[in-house]
Amino acid sequence: MSQSSLGCPGPATVVFDQSLTEYDFGPEHPMSPMRVDLTMRLATELGVVGDRLRVVRPPMASDDLIATVHRPELIEAVIRAGQDPRTIDGVHGLGSDDNPVFRDMHHATAHIVGATVEACRQVWSGESLHSANITGGLHHAMPGRASGFCIYNDIAVGIQSLLDQGAERVAYVDLDVHHGDGVERMFWDDPRVLTVSLHETGQMLFPGTGFPQDLGGPDALGSAVNVALPPGTGDAGWLRAFHAVVPPLLREFKPQVLVSQHGCDSHAEDPLAHMMLTVDGQRAAYLAVHDLAHELCEGRWVATGGGGYAIVDVVPRAWSHLLAIVSGVPLDPARETPDGWREHILHRLGRVAPMRLTDGRTPAYRDWREGYDPDTWLDRSIHATRMEAFPLHGLDPLP
Ligand SMILES: [Zn+2]
Ligand SMILES: [Zn+2]
Repeated sequence: MSQSSLGCPGPATVVFDQSLTEYDFGPEHPMSPMRVDLTMRLATELGVVGDRLRVVRPPMASDDLIATVHRPELIEAVIRAGQDPRTIDGVHGLGSDDNPVFRDMHHATAHIVGATVEACRQVWSGESLHSANITGGLHHAMPGRASGFCIYNDIAVGIQSLLDQGAERVAYVDLDVHHGDGVERMFWDDPRVLTVSLHETGQMLFPGTGFPQDLGGPDALGSAVNVALPPGTGDAGWLRAFHAVVPPLLREFKPQVLVSQHGCDSHAEDPLAHMMLTVDGQRAAYLAVHDLAHELCEGRWVATGGGGYAIVDVVPRAWSHLLAIVSGVPLDPARETPDGWREHILHRLGRVAPMRLTDGRTPAYRDWREGYDPDTWLDRSIHATRMEAFPLHGLDPLP
């Protein structure tokens, strides 16, 4: 099989051990840790994880580290709830259907935070050029409240750790189908962090926020950017929006390091949202993010997972592509999934796993510079974001 390298001039790592799958809200909850287990099995059988992508053990995040972005009351409530899971806490978002309490939940979540902070440390120190934490990406957690399956915001702690290590400009690109509201909130008024979120519009989907007019606080106007896309958007529309918004803003902002969130719940088969992407479109977006890290940040790239609830049909394939691109050698889209991996899923879950590593599409998009059509919801969405955000960065919003 032919595998062509991206020519990355440095090592890559994935921060992982099996204990990260202890972040588990129980068998009735959509965010099953099985999705991470199946991803690591697939990526390992494909040879993605190994010499090219070294596994680094995640350290535990201390309470003090978590408290760099979270309120101490939340941390105390999470510790208490994890000691007595019958505790219902109406104040900090714990004990709801979205965020049920489970035993030792503080420990499990602090470990995921530690993994993302380690991925950031790997990249900022230069030990790794690219580093990933696919169990991370808990982008909804707020300073004082758990939200949307997210207890602590590993991404925000990671970005804060980069700032505390001396980073002056961090770009955060959120490609989950849901608005990256928690990360945006944490750095709302901090001009050192540019957050850009592409998502299904909050008119249709949790958390109901993330509109073009939401641009950051008075000391950092333009540092938050939101693209609120129509339900039903597919590969072509998603990639059109990405390329119309993300590269121009990042080129102007000139980040020193790129942090990205790769929730794959934008896929057509995801049960929680209404977008129509394929694994091929998601893979194209991973490659585009990777290229921006090289173009603008000397390759410094931290990639996290995020949402994704089609745990057999989508997540393992999508994130194996992500890990492969992090490793510097993308997987051939035409390749089949390994027999052993499919057999494991048949035995373990009684389900038939996908035969191919992608959905067999060729993602293409029309470039914004060729013009736009105000009669379409998609183009109106992109246009609205450019009109609001681009002038704040000295950019012309028109094609
Ligand atoms: Zn690279
Ligand atoms: Zn999501």
